[in-house]
Amino acid sequence: MATDSHGRRIDYLRISVTDRCNLRCVYCMPADGVPWKAHDEILSWEEIERFAAVAAGEGISKIRLTGGEPLVRAGIVDHVRRLRAVTGIESIAITTNGTLLPKYAQELVDAGLTRVNVSLDTLDPEIYTSITRGGKLEDALAGIEAAFEAGMAPIKINVVVVRSLEQDLLGFARMTLDRPVHVRFIEYMPVGGAEEGVACSSAEGEGWTEADHVPSDETLALLTAQGAAAGFGELQAVSRDDAPGGWGPAHYYRFPGAPGTLGVISPLSHHFCGECNRLRLTADGRLRTCLFSDDELDARSVLRTGTQADVRELIQEALAAKPESHNMRVGTVRRMSQIGG
Ligand code: SAM
Ligand code: SF4
Repeated sequence: MATDSHGRRIDYLRISVTDRCNLRCVYCMPADGVPWKAHDEILSWEEIERFAAVAAGEGISKIRLTGGEPLVRAGIVDHVRRLRAVTGIESIAITTNGTLLPKYAQELVDAGLTRVNVSLDTLDPEIYTSITRGGKLEDALAGIEAAFEAGMAPIKINVVVVRSLEQDLLGFARMTLDRPVHVRFIEYMPVGGAEEGVACSSAEGEGWTEADHVPSDETLALLTAQGAAAGFGELQAVSRDDAPGGWGPAHYYRFPGAPGTLGVISPLSHHFCGECNRLRLTADGRLRTCLFSDDELDARSVLRTGTQADVRELIQEALAAKPESHNMRVGTVRRMSQIGG
């Protein structure tokens, strides 16, 4: 079991397998994207698997694959199969925009991955196209259907709440009434853009602003009021034991009798650093100890020139360096697509 220097158990590794993406969400990437890393700057599948094997020996048992868009990287299914075979890795999940799930959901399940988070911020086709700068809502919805058909579970939907987007929260709440789908509302975070002096980009040419940040308590109050007015009943808290298998910081609620749940994730308004259980490996092989911190360790060099013992030492160094809490609220050098969320 790995613990960091603040006594937290660290058993969860997020691996970004690519910095590339087939969408350009306004809060994640600039309109013209970010310059892709060259092929040799990105960790090979073999390097990631070697890292995962050493990390498993250090106490990591859960892996989430992310990106960029993890499903755009060729070879992802075989990678999942090989990670599943790593001793000590008990579970693998993926965070995806869902658009390629119709192609891959069944193969992923066959390879041993059933836990999926699909990012979807609106149920309005036009707004979806505008948020993703060109994506089609029907593709993401088809991805969610494909996940159900392939038997993936739990199926979670990540909604980043941005005030100026005026999202229809009730539409998402309605989805939970007849299907076991778990919608999590995530506070918009000021990640990326530090070098340009503009954190994120909430709309064309604009940066992250405090005004666009909606605290989870407000989201929850809206869901409660709108759900009651729509006749869904009273929104009730779900106990930790009853929550859809989670590795993270969401607090869950449900309307009476609903098979699905609604969750809120509050990295800014109620930061959950005390419960942080994770490390992050970026696609170009940097080990990050905190989403909000630009302090990184160079895992790529160690993987390319060092021994297993060196990789182990690096992981231990990261555990020792993990900050107690995030103290930077606005802007990091890397954008979310270059970290993996
Ligand atoms: N492309 C995949 C996807 O969209 O699910 C995986 C990578 S994406 C960077 C991971 C998660 O980060 C997504 O759920 C996305 O909505 C979220 N995200 C991106 N930028 C964000 C921001 N500024 N604040 C909060 N969440 C953000
Ligand atoms: Fe791509 Fe995901 Fe970022 Fe959207 S949130 S641009 S889908 S990496």
